[in-house]
Amino acid sequence: MIKNLYKLIIVVILLVSLIILLIPSSGKRGLMQAQERNDKHEGKALMRDKIIKTDAEWKEILTEEEYLVLRKKGTERAFSGKYNDFKQDGLFICAGCGNELFSSKTKYNSGSGWPSFWAPISEKNIEFEKDNNLFMSRTEVVCAKCGGHLGHVFDDGPAPTQQRFCINSVSLDFKEAQAEKDFLE
Ligand SMILES: [Zn+2]
Repeated sequence: MIKNLYKLIIVVILLVSLIILLIPSSGKRGLMQAQERNDKHEGKALMRDKIIKTDAEWKEILTEEEYLVLRKKGTERAFSGKYNDFKQDGLFICAGCGNELFSSKTKYNSGSGWPSFWAPISEKNIEFEKDNNLFMSRTEVVCAKCGGHLGHVFDDGPAPTQQRFCINSVSLDFKEAQAEKDFLE
């Protein structure tokens, strides 16, 4: 009888200490997650939450041309895009989701026939994928938020990065300089 009582007491002590050990650590974890979320939302050029849509949903919100380039990795004809020879100051955003991608400050005339930039606003806002289509090994540039195809990046660009982001106009929308000022300050 007494032996059983001891066993019971030991079990109760073990349980209580287990609970004491678990509660603060889980509380701390929760706090850390909240902090991480906070960090993500406070940065200026930051990675937004991903946008995931079905093909049918994209078809509904994009023009046919936008759908073919952004979702089917098409390429607009050289010199045909509205931003190829475009010199206004501002921000180029993703035509699919509005994610901020390139500043006019990094836009330059590469002569390629497509809007060209030597850097994105933030590497967090774009992603790179290997593209072995057309018997060439190229690096595809996609929007980090919606996964939309933007273009390709090559290492024959100007200083300071030597990179050439060769981007389809169709994949971009434009926000005038005031918007860029708001974004960068
Ligand atoms: Zn996007």
